[in-house]
Amino acid sequence: MRFLIVLMFFLLYFKSFTQSFRISIFTESTIKSITLQPGLGTYFLMNDTGFVRKIVPSDFITVNLGISNKLDVKLNNNYLFSSIKVYLFHEKSENNLKLKPVTPSFKERSYEGDFELLNKGGKIQIINLIDIDQYLEGVVESESGLGQNLEYYKVQTVISRTYALKYKNKHLSDGFNLCDRVHCQAYQHRRLSATVIDSAVRQTKDLIMLDEKKKLYATYFHANCGGQTCQPDYVWNEKLEGFDSFKDTFCIRTKQARWEKRIPINEWKAFMVNKYDFPIWDSLSNYQLYNFQQSERHAFFIHPFYGIPLRDLRETFQLKSTFFSCSIEGESVLLKGRGFGHGVGLCQEGAMNMSRKGYDYQQILLFYYPKMQLYIQTDRLNRKM
Ligand SMILES: [Zn+2]
Ligand SMILES: [Zn+2]
Repeated sequence: MRFLIVLMFFLLYFKSFTQSFRISIFTESTIKSITLQPGLGTYFLMNDTGFVRKIVPSDFITVNLGISNKLDVKLNNNYLFSSIKVYLFHEKSENNLKLKPVTPSFKERSYEGDFELLNKGGKIQIINLIDIDQYLEGVVESESGLGQNLEYYKVQTVISRTYALKYKNKHLSDGFNLCDRVHCQAYQHRRLSATVIDSAVRQTKDLIMLDEKKKLYATYFHANCGGQTCQPDYVWNEKLEGFDSFKDTFCIRTKQARWEKRIPINEWKAFMVNKYDFPIWDSLSNYQLYNFQQSERHAFFIHPFYGIPLRDLRETFQLKSTFFSCSIEGESVLLKGRGFGHGVGLCQEGAMNMSRKGYDYQQILLFYYPKMQLYIQTDRLNRKM
């Protein structure tokens, strides 16, 4: 009987490798101690030698860093075993597990799927082995928040699915596919409340975006373009096909459409002179230094001749966007800007507004990614919709 149980879980284990994504969770934290407790359903606890026992919602296990690259595991505060790896497998797909880092202390999060823990160079690495649709529900809720409508959530789902498949090897050398940070895609928890997200994921099942070369689309997006999207070479110095700049009127009356920032005149001047050798002795240049107008997006401040990329100013002065004009106000340079983010690809607030005006997810995706085509991803080939 015990042999059969072990065999069953090893089969489950390898099955999950082929059908699930491996997502690193709590990636940004150096966790040395964590408790895990089923929020719903039963989990099967395994170590290096096989099945240990069932864990039910009244149980909690604590995993601490041990010696010789091992993890020490306690059940309800009683020592259970030490092992190189610790696994928790769900009994039913709707099960979820609550994870609460103790050292350092962080807020509890809950996730669906299976879990693998390992002592990785002085921290506990936690991998969530998760079915792609369950993963997408968590990502869409983390990336778009609550309160959006079905068509917008479908937009975000297709983008996130395409991204996950395109970059599934991004962290392969770290032992997982993607991390839970914005570096890959935010995945802060399972879907907690919005059932409409569940519908968005099911109604766009297996849908992906391909470019003209039938490759997975580069699904760049940002919070607000300020009324005009940005050419990729303004941001990253490289041309990307299918991402020409265009006007977007859907976002200009939204939350992040406009911003202001004041920078002391001396700080502004010193940076330009010290870093770019700016010719303040030239009266016209000196005037333009404080009076720059950008009615359409530029790549450079004032003129390319001065060699000051706007993206450098955005980074140095931590500006919401590169789409700004400036003037003098008292002792400060007043920057009046538009939009939030790099401006390439889909504008989230514009897309949200389009969905509220009645556009469906395909129209929204085509507006922001004009060269994309939707395909249904099957095991062997992609079928055009
Ligand atoms: Zn990452
Ligand atoms: Zn926009």
